[in-house]
Amino acid sequence: MLQQVNGHSSGSDAQGRESLREDLQEFLGGEVPLHQLDDLTKVNPVTLETESAKGTSASVLRCLQARYTADTFYTNAGCTLVALNPFKPVPQLYSPELMREYHAAPQPQKLKPHIFTVGEQTYRNVRSLIEPVNQSIVVSGESGAGKTWTSRCLMKFYAVVAASPTSWESHKIAERIEQRILNSNPVMEAFGNACTLRNNNSSRFGKFIQLQLNRDHQMTGAAIQTYLLEKTRVACQDSTERNFHIFYQICKGASADERLQWHLPEGAAFSWLPNPERTLEEDCFEVTREAMLHLGIDAPTQNNIFQALAGLLHLGNIRFADSGDEAQPCRPMDDGAVRTSALLLRLPEDPLLETLRIRTIRAGRQQQVFRKPCSQAECDTRRDCLAKLVYARLFDWLVSVINSSVCADPASWTTFIGLLDVYGFESFPHNSLEQLCINYANEKLQQHFVAHYLRAQQEEYAVEGLEWSFVNYQDNQTCLDLIEGSPISICSLINEECRLNRPSSAAQLQTRIESALAGSPCLGHNKLSPEPSFIVLHYAGSVRYHTAGLVEKNKDPIPPELTRLLQQSQDPLLKVLFPADPEEKSQEEPSGQSRAPVLTVVSKFKASLEQLLQVLQATTPHYIRCIKPNSQGRAQALHREEVLNQLEACGLVETIHISAAGFPIRVSHRTFVERYASLRRLHPQGSPHAEQATLRALLQDILHTLPALEAATPAAPAGATPAPVHCGRTKVF
Ligand code: ADP
Ligand code: MG
Repeated sequence: MLQQVNGHSSGSDAQGRESLREDLQEFLGGEVPLHQLDDLTKVNPVTLETESAKGTSASVLRCLQARYTADTFYTNAGCTLVALNPFKPVPQLYSPELMREYHAAPQPQKLKPHIFTVGEQTYRNVRSLIEPVNQSIVVSGESGAGKTWTSRCLMKFYAVVAASPTSWESHKIAERIEQRILNSNPVMEAFGNACTLRNNNSSRFGKFIQLQLNRDHQMTGAAIQTYLLEKTRVACQDSTERNFHIFYQICKGASADERLQWHLPEGAAFSWLPNPERTLEEDCFEVTREAMLHLGIDAPTQNNIFQALAGLLHLGNIRFADSGDEAQPCRPMDDGAVRTSALLLRLPEDPLLETLRIRTIRAGRQQQVFRKPCSQAECDTRRDCLAKLVYARLFDWLVSVINSSVCADPASWTTFIGLLDVYGFESFPHNSLEQLCINYANEKLQQHFVAHYLRAQQEEYAVEGLEWSFVNYQDNQTCLDLIEGSPISICSLINEECRLNRPSSAAQLQTRIESALAGSPCLGHNKLSPEPSFIVLHYAGSVRYHTAGLVEKNKDPIPPELTRLLQQSQDPLLKVLFPADPEEKSQEEPSGQSRAPVLTVVSKFKASLEQLLQVLQATTPHYIRCIKPNSQGRAQALHREEVLNQLEACGLVETIHISAAGFPIRVSHRTFVERYASLRRLHPQGSPHAEQATLRALLQDILHTLPALEAATPAAPAGATPAPVHCGRTKVF
């Protein structure tokens, strides 16, 4: 509509172009070079509400594409910032000078859109008196889109703008707290990131970091919370992917002495270290060590950690051969691997082998102990389980050590800024429990976003004196009910299978879900599927989850013998990770009947998600949506289809729907009059730069002209109601 108005209004072509450029600049929140205007004129940013969502995302896509071509990577979209991954170094975009420029700007939102605008706005909110004072920045996007990069940059931003002048610590290593907080990044990434198909430095865990500020709004500490480390990666990697970076770092970066000590000769082959070709991430061993040192993890402790990791690599080389007799345990094919891993983990060799090969069950009235040799496959599972157990505990321990090194004394901080770097919505050809958890988290975050966005819109309408209510807007509660609701939901049904501990096939689980939840509009029709599965219609698209292995993954069983074995280790680190039980309880695997309630993966995840949302709800949220322009990680290439899918998955299309349910365009009275003054019926020669007193009269005048223009517009589809225009106290909606 405005575009047509612009057409009518342009006294000359140049004037019209300039006016259109202003419109676009306001919509895009940044400079639009004139040479790009022709491309951008195809974009009609002000008719979002009249187009279908698909059409709208296509026009948003065209904007993004034009900006990407011009090396403009950040774009405002309502209350979110869209960040396109440049896939090339752009150092000038992240310099401390630029950080200070955004920090010092009287109105940072008038500068080009940037993560520093979000960072600075957030920081100013903390200092203002608005409620709630605590802030959070939710960074989302698919793997490789730039979430971790963005959070890291924001941490650096605060380390610059919120540095305390006197934070030299009387710690062993005298250094600034901001530096220590930044040091947590290389350590967390070495242990929690891996090279995957989608990202060479993919975070395999979710992270919420709370930057703690004192009364003077200076950073005095931080607290880190992690979610769902993908621990299976320790023992099982896709043929095209890799294990966590740290394993490659120790293999490539160890000194000659350390190689001897950790039994890592040059060129040794480990089955848990696929694709050993060199990448940049593994050249960072020195950086990791240095950062650990700064976090208070001294050289002997580091040595201890790396030795245990080498022990896990040797554990992975243990292979079993079937004995051919059910009563006889499997044979290890290479005694050397058993010996070396026992040596490095400082475990007794025979019990290690015994634990991997023999299951003990306690059953019957007398709780008799039965010993049952495991099959070859079971031996492999137990070996993998042992590695996962050690690695997951080590990771959690590292996080707690980092926290104790960077966390401020509760009395010394008053407010915080939370940074959430969380896996985005996922939909693969094969989806399992991991995707269910991730997409569940995204549904929760989306609901939080929508609630915040609606509230913000509603508040603005109220301030402007507009009567409007989003009564007709449906949020994603129905989908959340399907996933987590009570009494029956997908989570409760999967948990139920674990609790009952009954053998049930993948097909049975599918039937149970489909019959118990048939009434949910968010459960898709599951026809013609070759494998047992169910479909959830998420806000970001429909996903088929395969039921095979779901229950077992949810149980994540850890045979008690494994924990008990690790408690026997003489290794100082393993002693900390696996402290002996305070009282000698019965530790054999109990029989089915006496089983205590299982804390499943889903229940643990749900609890941590609820905790996170409680924290987020008590803050003012800000959103950064990272977009990956192409899946090859190439600079200067934007694949439209891939980006469109992400616009949908990151909720941008949904944001447009909400906008369309209200008044998506708002312009100040003055801007409106300045732009569209030439539409006036009564004062065609008057100056558009009217004083406040006459502004409103002019405005009413123009607004009266609109219906006449609309009626004369041939493009308006027959029967369509004209877009409602409302005049608020300071803005035209
Ligand atoms: P995610 O955490 O979303 O999976 P990352 O933050 O790890 O993705 O980004 C993936 C890769 O993309 C990074 O390793 C880096 O090479 C590149 N990248 C991301 N953001 C930027 C940026 N702003 N400038 C330059 N390169 C970037
Ligand atoms: Mg990441």
